[in-house]
Amino acid sequence: MSSEERIKLNFYGGINGIGNIILLEDLKYETKILLDFGANTKKLIRYPSNLDEIINANILPQEKDFPIKNLYSKNFLFEKGLTKSERDRECADKSDPESDLDGVLISHAHRDHYYGLPFLNRNIPIFIGEYTKKILDAKSKASAVSVDNYYTGLNWRTFRTGDTIDIKGVKIYPVHVDHSIPAAYGFIIHTSAGLVVYSGDFRMHGPLKFMTFDLIRKVNELSKGNEQFENEDNERFIKVIALICEGTFVHKASIESERRVKRDLKILTRDIPFDYFIVKYNLADWDRFRTFVEITKQIGWKFIITEKAAYFYHILNTDENWMSMRNPNILDEDSILIVEQENKNSFLYGWQKEIRNIFRKNHKEGRFLKLKEIKDLKAKFFLYYIAVEKPYRENLPRYLVGAFISTDIDPYSEEYYDSDLLSQLRRLGFTSYRIQASGHAKPHDIYKFATEINPDKIFPIHSEHPKLFTNLFKNTSINVILPELYSDYFI
Ligand SMILES: [Zn+2]
Repeated sequence: MSSEERIKLNFYGGINGIGNIILLEDLKYETKILLDFGANTKKLIRYPSNLDEIINANILPQEKDFPIKNLYSKNFLFEKGLTKSERDRECADKSDPESDLDGVLISHAHRDHYYGLPFLNRNIPIFIGEYTKKILDAKSKASAVSVDNYYTGLNWRTFRTGDTIDIKGVKIYPVHVDHSIPAAYGFIIHTSAGLVVYSGDFRMHGPLKFMTFDLIRKVNELSKGNEQFENEDNERFIKVIALICEGTFVHKASIESERRVKRDLKILTRDIPFDYFIVKYNLADWDRFRTFVEITKQIGWKFIITEKAAYFYHILNTDENWMSMRNPNILDEDSILIVEQENKNSFLYGWQKEIRNIFRKNHKEGRFLKLKEIKDLKAKFFLYYIAVEKPYRENLPRYLVGAFISTDIDPYSEEYYDSDLLSQLRRLGFTSYRIQASGHAKPHDIYKFATEINPDKIFPIHSEHPKLFTNLFKNTSINVILPELYSDYFI
C-alpha cells in the first residue's frame, strides 16, 4: 500500500442506476463505513417473504460479495405470519454476532438510500438524522409490519447539522441539503488522507436551496484549514480528495421550481371540464403537500387524502423540535378531508383508531368521509392517489369527470407511469397531466456544486448516465472516475 492509497472506495449499488451502497475504508485508521444502504427501487418486490428473495432479485448484495463480517442480521429478521409484538418477544433476549463494519451513514428517508436497514446486523451503529429517523418511524407506523420494515433492535445514533461524528478517528460532518423530502443530508468525511464529500441526493432549485449551499460552505471552511485541523500532519490532509456526487438528472433536465408547480396547478384549475383531479406525489414530499394545501384554500377546493396519509402527517406535525413541519397542520386545515380506509369486517388498525380519536377529541370528525361519499361533495377537489385497484374502480365518483396529475418525484416515475399506471388510468377514462419539480440537481447545478467543492476526483453515482459527467467536467481540473460495481478505488 503506498502512502497515497489510504482510502478505498467500493460501490455495491448506485452504479448506472439508483440504490446507493458505498463502502469507504480508511486503511490507516482501519475504519469501515457504509454510505447509505439502499435498494434499486426499480427492482423492488411488493411483499417479499424473506431476505434471500430480496438478494436473489439483486435488490441487495450477497453477503459473500461484501468484505464485511456478518453484514446481515442473523437473529432479527422478520418472519411472515407473526405480528410485530410476537416477533419482538422472540427477539427480546437475542443478539447478533460481532461485525467489523463500524457504521452506516444514512443520507435521507428514500428507499433507494435506506431500504437495507431492517436486514442489518444489530451491532452495527446506524447514524441517521434525528428527523430522518422520525420519518422512517412514521412511515412504518402507518403500514403493516413486514419483512422490509422491521426495525426492532437496530442500533440507531441520531445526529443534527452541526454535530461531529467520530468513528475510530474518522470525523464526519453531516450537513442538511435541499431535496424532495425533509431531513436530507450530505456528509463531509475527514479521513486520514483528506476530505471525502458524499452529496446524498440534493437540488439547488428548491425552497430550501440555502441548505445545499451550507454544505458547500462547510466543505470550504474545512478544506481551507480551520483550527480544528491545525494539529494534522500538513496541508495535503485537508484537501477534498473525492466527491461522490449524485447525477440523477445529469442527462436531461428542465428549469422548474415548487413555485412553478403552484402556478401551473392554478392555471390547470381554471375553466376546466374536470370536477376533480387524482394527484400522485411522494407522501413525504412536504413541499408538495404544502403546495396542494395552499392551492386548495386559494381556489376553494377540497384536498382529500388517505387516512394513512393523515396519520403520517399528524405524527410529523406534532414533533416538538421541527418547526417547519408543523404546517400545514392536518387538524387545523379544514380544506383537507380524509377518506376512511375500509377494511374487511369493519376491522380498525391501531393507527386508525388513534387518528380518528384525535379528530373526534378536536370536534373535527366531520372531515372524515367514505370513498363512495366523494361524489356527493359540493366542491371540486384534489384526491390523493390511493391505488388504481379494486376499491377505486368500484367507488370512483362515476358521475364526475376526473383527470390525473402526476407530480411524483421518483427519478424513474416517468417510465413507470407510462408503462403501468397511465395505461390503467386511460382504461378508466382518465386523461393525465404532468406537473413537476424534481428533487434532484440539474446539470448546471451539479457543475456549480462540484466546482465550488473542487475535489481532486468526482465519482458520479445514482445516475443512469454517469458518462455525461466526463463531458461536463472536461475543462476543469476535476478528474471524473466512472466507478464500476464491486471494484476497489484507491484515493
Ligand atoms: Zn432521494
